[in-house]
Amino acid sequence: MGSWITGKTALLGLFGSPVEHSVSPVMHNTAFEALGLDFAYLAFEIGTDDAGKAIEALRTFRMRGANVTMPLKAAVVPYLDKLTPAAKLIGAVNTIVNDNGVLTGHITDGEGYMMSVRDAGLDPAGKKMTLAGAGGAAKAICVQAALDGVKELSVFNRDREKAEKLAELINRNTDCRAKAFGLDEKEALRRELAESCLFANATRVGMAQMEGQSVIPETDFFHSGLAVTDAIYEPEKTRLLQMAEAAGCRTLNGLGMVLFQGAAAFRLWTGREMPVELVRKKLFQK
Ligand code: NAP
Repeated sequence: MGSWITGKTALLGLFGSPVEHSVSPVMHNTAFEALGLDFAYLAFEIGTDDAGKAIEALRTFRMRGANVTMPLKAAVVPYLDKLTPAAKLIGAVNTIVNDNGVLTGHITDGEGYMMSVRDAGLDPAGKKMTLAGAGGAAKAICVQAALDGVKELSVFNRDREKAEKLAELINRNTDCRAKAFGLDEKEALRRELAESCLFANATRVGMAQMEGQSVIPETDFFHSGLAVTDAIYEPEKTRLLQMAEAAGCRTLNGLGMVLFQGAAAFRLWTGREMPVELVRKKLFQK
């Protein structure tokens, strides 16, 4: 890797911490190499205190742009020149595009989620969706789902107040009608799922120390007309997805979301389509 780098190669990067396990450098460099594009992508370990310096460096090095991950997604916002409508609503970015010194912040996480859902042949537009979570991933998914025409959204979160704030944001700024619940409101959860075509887990439940746990308590909360997605992709099949499969639901893990958020950023920087299938194979079918 790297044999194509010349004096004209444009630099892209990932800013955040930790970044060493990110799939983004391999994703983008694989695509640049496959399409013969003169770009290179590196990961930079940067903490919140250095957000401003990182953006200044991006300008100084005339980088084409960057991806931004935790804990910088909101911290870089004050240093950018423009934000897309979704990034403005969310107050965070995951992609920066540098157009001759003008830096625009985009958020492609929610777009990646919706693209992965549509790629799987599902379209929640005009229908009802239920989601667990109210953190960064949940916000990005909810805002994009609402902008893409989902008619009703039911948001469940452990901290109910955060769900209420997210529902308010959706109701104030989009045509989608959103309602908020606590994750412990089990009967409401059962009812909202019965009326939904899509359920998204955007909490951390199911990964790391919470591997083996599920935000949905019992298999009988599902119905066969419900597609169930998990933003988590390690483990590949969370307890939630195992339960949903047992109930006959279509399931999707978070690989598609990570892949398509990258594809959306790739398009913004290069104007080209990422060879998604090639990248998917390289990253996830070892
Ligand atoms: P975050 O901003 O820290 O939000 C964490 C969310 O998880 C909150 O809603 C939190 O609820 C909930 N949570 C944490 N521990 C919980 C518990 N024990 N019981 C119930 N809820 C709990 O994190 P994030 O960035 O949104 O990430 C959320 C998940 O999405 C992670 O698993 C992450 O890996 C995944 N993700 C995937 C992608 C992708 O591309 N596939 C992209 C981004 C994130 P409270 O508000 O009540 O604390």
